[in-house]
Amino acid sequence: MDTHSVNQYRDTWIEIDVKAIASNVKSVKTLHHPDVNVMAVVKADGYGHGAVTVARTALESGADWLGVALLEEAVELRNAGVDAPILVLGPINPQDASVAQHYRISITAFQSEWLAEASPHLDPESALHVHLKCDTGMGRIGLTDEQTLLDMLKMLKSDKRFTFTGIFTHLATADEWGSEYLSRQLKAFQSYVQLAKEVAGPIPYIHYSNSAASLRYPGNDYNMVRFGISMYGLVPAVETATDIPVSLKPAMSLHSRLTHVKKVQPETSISYGATYQASEEEWIGTVPIGYGDGWLRANATNGGEVLVKGQRCPMVGRICMDQMMIRLPSEIPVGTKVTLIGKQKHEEISIEEVSERLSTITYEIPCLLNGRIPRVNI
Ligand SMILES: *Cc1c(COP(=O)(O)O)cnc(C)c1O
Repeated sequence: MDTHSVNQYRDTWIEIDVKAIASNVKSVKTLHHPDVNVMAVVKADGYGHGAVTVARTALESGADWLGVALLEEAVELRNAGVDAPILVLGPINPQDASVAQHYRISITAFQSEWLAEASPHLDPESALHVHLKCDTGMGRIGLTDEQTLLDMLKMLKSDKRFTFTGIFTHLATADEWGSEYLSRQLKAFQSYVQLAKEVAGPIPYIHYSNSAASLRYPGNDYNMVRFGISMYGLVPAVETATDIPVSLKPAMSLHSRLTHVKKVQPETSISYGATYQASEEEWIGTVPIGYGDGWLRANATNGGEVLVKGQRCPMVGRICMDQMMIRLPSEIPVGTKVTLIGKQKHEEISIEEVSERLSTITYEIPCLLNGRIPRVNI
């Protein structure tokens, strides 16, 4: 891998397997009726994979929409020449509504006051596309009563600066065993949808499924699913991974190379705090990655390992800002590839393994790995 081609002088890089993303989008499509739209969720720089690459790949593989969290993320896609419909799933400031309108970006609204404040900022010659968000149990954003829905529908209808194009909600427990809470959310959503249809007529887009719901409860959906984590080949929750009916292909792998290899004597200490001591003669390798890259210190604890020549090697001593040490099975040349996430020969260290090591969810791992590590598309 020629990492110098991306102006990187350090041998630490992330590979993004775009074919895996394509395959995951195609897989979710096979589970749903052909009329169901797929929104590829590419917020937070495509969950750390690179939003523009993921967006293009997903659209070429059959995705219809893109979902982001922030208005700036949507503008970045437009500026990169992405022309597909985009929905900002999070709230935006009413005075920025004109930016969304200018870039033909659909927005999420859930407060009557927001519509009143946004309207004067809009060009009366074209309409801002609005999806109404209902809070049915997530407790984050969304309208929580029918009167607000009715008020907002009235405002959308009477103001030519707006077009009502969608209604949606977000599920809190779709990745867990037990579907009682999910059923309650769906029931609440169904009544909002029913009411909105009675008042406003047919609604172009009605959506509630995230990855977990789109994979575990397909067929339940209205006419769009919002596909995030599993597009990257990751399970929403390790506990319910067995319930996923398609095989997902992980897109991200993380690699580096040994920069220094040495034999140490028994009782030699390694790294800050001298917390690790060699118990016998050991081969210790240095790897140029650290918490300054988002490779957290906690990776070295709980038996965290990396792959060298297809073998698992433990991280030893504290992880530093830019470097860390590993124990090698024998003398191994400087320059040898070290895989922190991904496959070598028959061994694999998955993002699921790393997330369990750090007592967190899969989502956090690729988001943590920051822009100091170049992404190379393969
Ligand atoms: C992030 C997000 C999604 C995608 O969720 P995944 O679990 O990654 O599939 C869908 N909808 C909303 C509103 C989101 O914020």
